[in-house]
Amino acid sequence: MPPTERLYYQDSHLIEFDAQVIANSERVSGWTAVTLDRTAFYPTGGGQPSDTGTLNGLRVVECIDDAEEGVLHVIQGRAPEVGTIVKGRIDWLRRLDHMQQHTGQHILSQGFVKLFNAPTRSFRVLDESCEIDVSLHNPTSETIERAVELANNVIWENRMITISHVTSREASELPLRKEPAREGDLRLIEIEGFDLTPCGGTHAYQTGEVGMIAVRSWERAKGLTRIEFVAGMRALADYRRANKSARAIAGLFSAGRAETPELAARMIEENKQLYRRVRNLEEIAARIEAEELLARAAAEAGNATVGSADARIVVEVFDNRDAESLKQLALTLINHPKTIALLGARDKDAARVVFARSADAPGDMNALMRDACAMLDGRGGGKPDLAQGGGKNVEKLGEAIAQAARVVRGE
Ligand SMILES: [Zn+2]
Repeated sequence: MPPTERLYYQDSHLIEFDAQVIANSERVSGWTAVTLDRTAFYPTGGGQPSDTGTLNGLRVVECIDDAEEGVLHVIQGRAPEVGTIVKGRIDWLRRLDHMQQHTGQHILSQGFVKLFNAPTRSFRVLDESCEIDVSLHNPTSETIERAVELANNVIWENRMITISHVTSREASELPLRKEPAREGDLRLIEIEGFDLTPCGGTHAYQTGEVGMIAVRSWERAKGLTRIEFVAGMRALADYRRANKSARAIAGLFSAGRAETPELAARMIEENKQLYRRVRNLEEIAARIEAEELLARAAAEAGNATVGSADARIVVEVFDNRDAESLKQLALTLINHPKTIALLGARDKDAARVVFARSADAPGDMNALMRDACAMLDGRGGGKPDLAQGGGKNVEKLGEAIAQAARVVRGE
């Protein structure tokens, strides 16, 4: 079978073509791979995703480069008969997007070579952005932005991009940006006066078509610098998203976009201080609250006894109290001698429980907690003198605490 003639090699902007079906085979139930004598569809490869489009109106969802069978067009449903002439149509916006990212990558990669002698090791087109891994040592935002600036200048100079074919011997004499990945004759992509690279992908006619390049983020990864960038339409889409969220945040501060980083940093710092202040006040409040609860427990119980030892039992259920505050109160209570604290709280949709006793009071808080958590449909545990837990069955909270109190009182 002769290899598929690749029309995208000659013209990356060809989006309609006629071709003859030379084979078709069902791959997975309902999905058929169609082979044509020629195609303008670019198959997945070289970090660039496949084109999509239609064949005689049938949806082409992916194209695969098969070493033996050529370009496989994956379609759903009944495939056209072998021998049929079909009309192929490429989804132009998807192709243009891929060309912008891919051509943009040629330009940006050469920018890193020109400025820092830093070659690109790999390239990926992702859903919303692209990634290159560059051998760039000691990267900073400033050095990366210098390469981006050079790349954008090359884009706005609207340089010609041309295709040529050379033998591997001829290629060995040329200043190629990267080593050819294959043997034999080579397809070279030249960006006028800037870059010369062997490549089988689809490229813009002129650099201006790439529009612009912007870096979204970068990080050190496996000894390389991984740079996430967007080109062309993706840069505009990314600007819109970024602007939307920046304006939403600015709206919360009733300020301009540019002022929000400082305002947010100040708010976070204030929040930390407030948090520390609240915890301090809670400690003070817990001491007072503990005194009141102990006084009330003493008044209610008279000379209640626990087993053989005298101990005061504080039993309380609170509304809207978080686990940390509840624990704080329990610890303050058991600072007092011969004290047992059986505390519960409703915290949003959950029940929180803390059982604690002073060192000189009797009882196994951990065992009590296991029983309580079983009632609350939750989990918890700890030590004989301090246990914490909770569950989602908030309605049983009062009952679980009362049950623990009965056990402690020996009832
Ligand atoms: Zn290329």
